[in-house]
Amino acid sequence: MTAPITQDVLTIPRKLPEQAKTNIVGLTRDALRAALIAAGTPEKQAKMRLGQVWQWVYHWGVRDFALMTNLAKDYRALLAEHFVIELPEVVTRQISEDGTRKYLVRIAGGHEVEVVYIPETDRGTLCISSQVGCTLTCSFCHTGTQKLVRNLTAGEIVGQVMLARDDLDEWPVQGAPKEEVRLISNIVLMGMGEPLYNFENVRDAMKVVMDGEGIALGRRRITLSTSGVVPEIARTAIEIGCLLAVSFHATTDEVRDQLVPINKRWNIATLLEALKAYPGLSNSERITFEYVMLDGVNDTKEDAHRLVKLLEGIPAKVNLIPFNEWPGAPYKRSSGNRIHAFADIIYHAGYATPIRTPRGEDIMAACGQLKSATERARKSKAEIAAEAGLT
Ligand code: SAH
Ligand code: SF4
Repeated sequence: MTAPITQDVLTIPRKLPEQAKTNIVGLTRDALRAALIAAGTPEKQAKMRLGQVWQWVYHWGVRDFALMTNLAKDYRALLAEHFVIELPEVVTRQISEDGTRKYLVRIAGGHEVEVVYIPETDRGTLCISSQVGCTLTCSFCHTGTQKLVRNLTAGEIVGQVMLARDDLDEWPVQGAPKEEVRLISNIVLMGMGEPLYNFENVRDAMKVVMDGEGIALGRRRITLSTSGVVPEIARTAIEIGCLLAVSFHATTDEVRDQLVPINKRWNIATLLEALKAYPGLSNSERITFEYVMLDGVNDTKEDAHRLVKLLEGIPAKVNLIPFNEWPGAPYKRSSGNRIHAFADIIYHAGYATPIRTPRGEDIMAACGQLKSATERARKSKAEIAAEAGLT
C-alpha cells in the first residue's frame, strides 16, 4: 500500500473580515492602477499616482498614507478612505542558535503559516510559504500531515517578504547611502505548500517582489520548488521567469510513488520530459534536483548511479538534503558517510552536489519541519487525551 496522492484535507474557503477597504499589498501594477481609478483618481493621473504609491509601499516600506509626502493632502485622504497597506500578523518570532529566524504568521481567517530567514556568509535566503498546509502527502514531510489547507493570496505571499524586511530593518532610509548588502538576497518558495497548486497568486506575488521600482529582487534570485506538478512547470519559466527546483527524491517510480505520491499521476519519465523542455534552461540557469537522504530508502550507490543516468541532458545541480526528523516521522537520516559517498558519485559525473546544512533545527525551522503551531498543539492535545485513555 502506498500513500494516496492527496490527503483527506479540509479545504477552507478564504474568510475575509468584512472590510470595505482594499489592501494594496499584493495587487499587480495593473490591478492597483484600476483600483486607484475606481477610487476616484483621474485616468490621466493614474500612471503617475501608481508609480508614486508603488514606490512608497514597496521601495520605502511605508504603511501610512499620511507619510506619502509627495502626494497632495486630499489625495492622501482619498487613499486612506479606500485602501489599507496590511501585512499578515507576526504571532511569534524564534531565533535559532545559528541565527536562523522563524516567524509564525497569522493570516485572514486565523490560519497560520511559517516563514524562515536563513543568513549565510554570502547571502540571506527567505523561505516563504504558498499555502496553509499542503494537499499532497509526501511521506517524509511534516507539512503534508497537516489537514487544514488553504491557498494564500498574493498579498499574503508578498506580505511574508515585507514582514521579514520589517524585522530585519531592511527598508532604505531616505537620504542615507544605498545599502550594498541585501540581508534578504534570495527567496525560495520552499516553505509550506505546493506553489504550483496556487500558481496565479504565487506568480502575481513574485511579479511584485521582482518589480524594479520596489523590492527589486531579480528573477534569478527566486527559486520555486515543486513536487512535480507537470502541467504548470513550463508556465513557471514563461510567466514568472524564476529558477526551478524539483523535489526528486528517488530514482525509481516504485520508490518515488511512496515518497512523493504525485509521482503516481506524473511519473519520473513524464517529469523529466517537462524538465528537459523547461524554457530558458541553460548552464547558467540550471534546475535544482532536491534529494532528501533517507536511511536505507533512497541512498545507495546504485541510486546515485541511476540518478546520474536520469539527469543526462539536463543542465542540473543536485541538492542533497539530510532528512530532518520530526515527531512521529517514519524515516531516519542517512549517515554522513552515505551522504558523502552519494555526493561523490554525482559530483564525479560533473554535477554540483551541495549537501544542504540543516538550519534552525532547534526551532523546527529546517526543511520539511514546518507546520503551524496551532496544528502541532492540536495534535499534542489529542495525544495527551489518547494517553489519558480519554479517546
Ligand atoms: N511543496 C514544495 C516546496 C516545499 S518543500 C516541494 O515539495 O517541492 C521544500 C523541500 O524540502 C522539498 O524538496 C521537500 O521535499 C523537502 N522536505 C520535505 N520534508 C523534509 C524533511 N523532513 N527533511 C528534509 N527535507 C524535506
Ligand atoms: Fe507538500 Fe512539498 Fe511537503 Fe510534499 S514535500 S507534502 S509537496 S510541502
